[in-house]
Amino acid sequence: MLMDICLCPDVRLRQEIFGGLVFNKRTGTTVEVDHRAFQFLTMLSDLDASPIAPTANSYIYAYNTNQENKLLKFIQELFDLKIICTKPGTDLRSLKLDAIKKISPHHNNKVITYRSSTFPFHQLLSAPESVHYAITYRCNHKCPDCYAKRIMADRSNYVGGGENSCKFITNELDTNGAMAIIDKIVAMGVFQLAIGGGSPFIRTDLEKIIPHASRQGLVVHLTTELGNDELMCLPLIVPYLSCLQIGINSATINSELSHKSTPQKDFIEQLFIEEKKWFSTQSHPSLLSSSSSLLIGANLMLNRTMLEGSTLENSIEFLMKLGFKQITLLRYKPPYSVERWQSENPRPYQFLNLEGRIAGIKQLNSELNLRIDCGLSFLEQDLTPEQARFAGFFGCVAGGRTMAVAPDGSIYPCSQLVSKKFCAGNLLKDHLDSLWKDSTVFKTFRNLRNKRNFRENACGTCLAKEWCSGCRVFAHEVYDNDPGCPKGER
Ligand code: SF4
Ligand code: SF4
Repeated sequence: MLMDICLCPDVRLRQEIFGGLVFNKRTGTTVEVDHRAFQFLTMLSDLDASPIAPTANSYIYAYNTNQENKLLKFIQELFDLKIICTKPGTDLRSLKLDAIKKISPHHNNKVITYRSSTFPFHQLLSAPESVHYAITYRCNHKCPDCYAKRIMADRSNYVGGGENSCKFITNELDTNGAMAIIDKIVAMGVFQLAIGGGSPFIRTDLEKIIPHASRQGLVVHLTTELGNDELMCLPLIVPYLSCLQIGINSATINSELSHKSTPQKDFIEQLFIEEKKWFSTQSHPSLLSSSSSLLIGANLMLNRTMLEGSTLENSIEFLMKLGFKQITLLRYKPPYSVERWQSENPRPYQFLNLEGRIAGIKQLNSELNLRIDCGLSFLEQDLTPEQARFAGFFGCVAGGRTMAVAPDGSIYPCSQLVSKKFCAGNLLKDHLDSLWKDSTVFKTFRNLRNKRNFRENACGTCLAKEWCSGCRVFAHEVYDNDPGCPKGER
């Protein structure tokens, strides 16, 4: 029976001009589908909500096609991506085939185009997919590569002059203000909220803010340094988190090289001991049911030292020994200290063999989920458009699929592009919907690839521009090329 297939639990649908976005809250996967595919999924979703079973004719009307193979492939992909499934208690294999046969009638009609080769890379979305919320820029840690300190030190961000007049600090929103920001994000249909800082745990209200976001359907990620305060507070918020990402500081990596312990290393060891308690004993029953899918990952900054010799490979081995199974490699962005930047900014040639090194690490560690941030999209430059499209690589997504909120509620195209000139407005005062669609700043970034200044430079003439375009943090001006790209070094 057709009614034996359904949307997987926690799959969200969002209608878009081109069809829709499908987001699986459990896996974090987002898929773009065209109108017909979206219609099909909406029908499954309505079916779940309605006690009245539709007739098979309603499917036939929407999905008749003379290209049965394409339809079968489409259905199979939806199964593989865990977007649709069979209802509990049914035999997956036999029912899948049965269901597919029933919705593959032999009539002539249009073909479902599901992420086909003609599907454009960059579409205007009705809302961001994810929002990065720097809930505070305050922090007691002294990480040398912290970019929040650079943002706070940017004199153009100060109003009135003087150390205490940085608007992002003095206007940090209180609990109600932070929740109001989250409400606006939810109302827009955003899927994911990434909370970071500064050090988020320096605030004493995370245990109110994070559950508030999660209960409204947002998938919540939290990025933090790890210290004693964090460890103490985590049990209260773990049930509401999907991902806890630990920023690994250089002292922790150096501790591995010098065989010494550091506070962060000790805290990470403690974290994984605590995690085992959360998930394998009855001592925290409230955590067992809701947080069993919590991912604990590490962020590793690729500075010059990290890329030298075998430091990267050794560091990953060390982090895996500590217990991490998900590691995200971050492109090194300018920190507060100019001297530090000059000594640690990698040379482009250091990226030349990075793709091969990453492949080698993955081969050795099949259980490791190793990811790269969008600033490193040039590592994917040799993909074909079809491969990039299928893998969901979009390159720079500033103002196109993502946006950032500063502690005072002001918004920006990316968490790395927080400065007065890139401020699109303030969520407390303005409507997010109109800011997202009409702000000149967001339009500038999302339409970058169409601008003449960009089209004429090295990134604009690059075959990989649709799934890369270079990181705008490094471009001297918005439309300039990314000077850190290793392409010219080949
Ligand atoms: S500017 Fe673009 S590529 Fe760079 S970090 Fe921001 S979103 Fe990613
Ligand atoms: S030239 Fe620009 S678009 Fe091409 S791979 Fe390099 S950074 Fe990416």
